[in-house]
Amino acid sequence: ARLANQIAAGEVVERPASVVKELVENSLDAGATAIKIDIEKGGAKRIRISDNGCGIAKEELTLALSRHATSKIKNLTDLEAICSLGFRGEALASISSVARLTLTSKTAEQENAWQACAQGRDMDVVVQPAAHTKGTTIDVVDLFFNTPARRKFLRTEKTEFSHIEEVIKRIALARFDVAFTLTHNHKTIRQYRVANSDSQKAKRVAQVCGQAFIEHAIKVDCQHDGLHLSGWIAQPSFSRNQNDLCYSYVNGRMMRDKLINHAIRQSYQEMLPSDGYPAFVLFLELNAREVDVNVHPAKHEVRFHQGRYVHDFIYSVCHRALIQTLA
Ligand code: ADP
Ligand code: MG
Repeated sequence: ARLANQIAAGEVVERPASVVKELVENSLDAGATAIKIDIEKGGAKRIRISDNGCGIAKEELTLALSRHATSKIKNLTDLEAICSLGFRGEALASISSVARLTLTSKTAEQENAWQACAQGRDMDVVVQPAAHTKGTTIDVVDLFFNTPARRKFLRTEKTEFSHIEEVIKRIALARFDVAFTLTHNHKTIRQYRVANSDSQKAKRVAQVCGQAFIEHAIKVDCQHDGLHLSGWIAQPSFSRNQNDLCYSYVNGRMMRDKLINHAIRQSYQEMLPSDGYPAFVLFLELNAREVDVNVHPAKHEVRFHQGRYVHDFIYSVCHRALIQTLA
C-alpha cells in the first residue's frame, strides 16, 4: 500500500507548497473559519495546519488516511457537480506515505480529541487520546524523509517558502470569510482577518497584491445568463512585466486557465505594452454542471462546456470596464 501511495504522492505532493494547498483545502472543506499555517524550514522540516472546522470523528481517523477514502463524494451525480475542493481522497494517504504525519482532531459531539499517527512500512495507524479544541491539526514532519531522490529536488528554504506564501495568497483571495495566519520559523509572516465589508475586502486585496494594485484597480461586477464575473482589474497603466498578479477563480477554485487568461489579455488589447501583463483578481461563478474540474490532478485547469461563450463574456465585461475608465 505504501508504494502505491508513494507513486500517487508524485502527482499530489510535488513540494511543500502542494502539501499546504491540499491541507488548507481540506480545512476549508471542513467549514473552518480560522486556519493557522505553521511552516519550519521552508516546509521541509514541518508543515502544520490547524483549523476550527468540523473535525474528524475517532472512528473515521484511520479511514481518512487511507487511499481513495473521501467523505465528499457519495455517488456519480456528486462527481458531476463537485462543489467541495477535495474529492479524490488521495491527499492524506499520499502525504503520509512521504512524511511523518500526525492527525489530531475533535468533533463538536466528542468529549475528547483523538490523534492518529501514520507510521511504519505498512502505514499502521496508531490512535490515541489527545488534547485539541473542536477542529483538526495536521502535522507533517520531515517531508520526503523516505524518498531521498525527491528530497534532493527541494530548492532553498526561501524558495520553497515563497511557493507556500503564493498558495496562501491565492487561497486568501478566494475566501474573504476565513481568517488565515501564516508563520515561518515561528515568525508571523501573513495575517488576514475575516473580511465582510467591501472596504475590508479591498484591504485584504491590498495585503495580497500591494497597495498600488488596489489604488489602480477598477471594480467589476457583472451578471449575464448564468455567468457572474466580479473582482478587480488594474488600469492598463499598472501593467506588469511578469504575470505575478494574475488571480482568477472559477466557482471559488483558483485557476491558471488559458482560456480565462486569454480573454482578459485580449480585453486590454492595445492598451498594454507588448511585453506587459495585466494584473487582476477575478471571480467567475457559473453552474457547476457547466464545468469539468477533474482535468488535472493538481486541479488548476478547467474545461468549460461552452468555452467560447465564457471567453467572450469575460472579454466583454473587462473590455467595457477598461474603456469606461479611459473615457
Ligand atoms: P479528499 O479531500 O479528496 O476527500 P483527503 O485525503 O484530502 O481526501 O482527505 C480525506 C478525508 O479526511 C476527507 O474526505 C475528510 O473526510 C477528512 N479530512 C481531511 N482533512 C480534514 C480536516 N481538516 N477537517 C475535517 N476532515 C478532514
Ligand atoms: Mg483533500
